[in-house]
Formats: sequence, C-alpha cells, structure tokens
Amino acid sequence: MRLSVVVPCYNEEAVLGRFDAAIRAVLERLAVPYELVYVDDGSSDGTLARLRGLAQQHRGTTRYLSFSRNFGKEPAILAGLRAATGDAVIIMDADLQHPPPLVEKMLDLYQLGHDQVVARRSRDGDRRLRTALSRLYYRAVNNWVEVELADGVGDFRLLSRKAVDALLSLPEYNRFSKGLFSWIGFDTITFDYRNAAREAGETKWRLGSLVNYGIDGMLSFNCRPLRAAIYAGLGLASLAALYTLWIIGAAVAGGVTAPGYVTLVAIIVGLGGLQMVMLGLIGEYIGRIYYEAKRRPHFLVKESDSAAPVPEPAGA
Ligand code: UDP
Ligand code: MG
Repeated sequence: MRLSVVVPCYNEEAVLGRFDAAIRAVLERLAVPYELVYVDDGSSDGTLARLRGLAQQHRGTTRYLSFSRNFGKEPAILAGLRAATGDAVIIMDADLQHPPPLVEKMLDLYQLGHDQVVARRSRDGDRRLRTALSRLYYRAVNNWVEVELADGVGDFRLLSRKAVDALLSLPEYNRFSKGLFSWIGFDTITFDYRNAAREAGETKWRLGSLVNYGIDGMLSFNCRPLRAAIYAGLGLASLAALYTLWIIGAAVAGGVTAPGYVTLVAIIVGLGGLQMVMLGLIGEYIGRIYYEAKRRPHFLVKESDSAAPVPEPAGA
C-alpha cells in the first residue's frame, strides 16, 4: 500500500522544515511507500519557496501545489485530497500540533480494516474559557444537527481510499469538513492524544472566526434552525393572543386604563430583534444557495510540481 500525507500550509515558513524532517523520519522508519502533498494556501511569507526547495530535494516523495490567494484551510484540504494518489491519506497540520509519531498508530488501525482513523486531541494548554465554551457548544449543537460533531476532533485523521473518494464525490461549495467527515460514515475509530503547543508561527484562528465556525456548524447540515424559527413565531403569536384576551378582560372588568408604554416598547423592540434574527437565518440559507448556484471552483492553483493542475471534477 501507498500512503499520502496531505498538509495545508498558510504562512508556515517557520515550522515547515522541522515538520518535513519529523514526518519523513517517521515514514522512513515505518518503511511505507509514501508521498507528501503540501498545499500552499496563498501564503505571504516564504512558504512557497520552501516547498519548491523540498520538492527538489525529495523528488518522487514530495509534491506541492500553491493557490493563487488564501482560500482557507477547507479548500486547501480538498485540493490535497484531490491530488493525493495513495491508498490511504492522512491529513495533518504543518505546525507540529499533530504529532508525526502518531502516524504509526493510525496505520496500525488502518491495517485492522478501519476506513477513518480519527485522532482526538485533549484540550491541554487551551484557555479554560475556550474549553468550557467548546463543551457547551458541542453539547448544544449535537442536539441540532443530524451528523455527530465531536469536541476535540479535527482534520487530523487517516482516510482510506474509499472514504477519500466518498468525500470527493460531495460537490458542495460550503465545506464544513468536520460535518462532511461524519456524514460520509464508514468504519470509523477514534483514539486520543495529548495536544501539543504550536511549535512556531501563530494560530490563524481569531475569536470572530471561531464564532463563525460555530454558526457554520449549526447551519451546514440541516434546516432545523428554520423549523425553530417557526416554533418561536408560533409561541410568540400564542403569547400575544393570550395577552390580548387578558387586556380585553381587564378592560371589561375594570374599564380602560391605558398603561403599558414600557410593555409596548419592549415588545416592539423584542419582536423587531427576533425578526431580524430570523431574517438573518433565512438569509444565511439563501446565501448558501447563492454560492452553490455560482458553481465557482473551490480554489485556483497558481503553481504546482506537476504540469497538470488539479482539476475540479466534472459537474462539481
Ligand atoms: N491553514 C491553511 N489556511 C488557512 C489557515 C490555516 O491552510 O487559511 C493551515 C495552517 O497552515 C495549519 C493548519 O491549517 O497547517 C491549522 O492552522 P492553525 O494552526 O492556525 O489552526 P489551529 O491549530 O490553531 O486550529
Ligand atoms: Mg495549529
């Protein structure tokens, strides 16, 4: 069997050399035929130059492609998966947070017949608040979405050829890969590892992007938020009806007093807010339809080691 390792890189100049040496050492020791597929996600530092160097130095085992701009990690992974030719593919980060020695364990589990071997990280070294918020989020979101999203589980995993082909057959533009991995199913096994701190460079996650990622997770796999909006509307309308009856009753019993200025303002503002949220919700789905309808490619390749650029599959 042949193993492909797909590595998305965005401004990873500082660690790339170390990562490459580490993963190569492991793969050579395991004596498994391999290829490293680096995807430069439009880095603005010397990442691409490093990749050219590595491809020259390790001809035959190293391939790379480089995007015309920063498209994001999901498109970078997609490009890597399309380019990978191995019977099994491992996806890992370039920052050494995914320890290369774990590749051995993944291969062992793959050889036992699993199609997805998933590494789940501990949250050592994360800030308490972030850990607590993540827990809360996943508990809430798993009641919502039809696919299981697990805390601590990311892109670090091994996929069999079957699983890779299944992923590549999903043509959607919005790729929430955590959900896609779970959606394709197949025989999946998860093991835990201790999280390592980033070796160098800095994380590309900002608070805002985490919140957006969270919203994507809730919206990407179902229309239940829309259903919830209907229920909220029904609930509020019922409350309003009851309140009206009560006011009429009070007026009949005690005559018309006309208090309730504050109530009125609160209701108007509250309902206005709720309507905005629901409009936003509908807008999110329409926005997704808009992006899907445009059928733009997920990424554009500026340069790669081979003459043939990675094509979009027909109909995608
Ligand atoms: N990455 C990428 N494109 C981006 C952002 C990140 O290809 O727009 C890569 C990055 O180079 C790294 C991996 O995705 O290999 C994970 O990024 P990072 O370490 O910033 O995320 P974290 O580990 O904090 O989740
Ligand atoms: Mg990282």
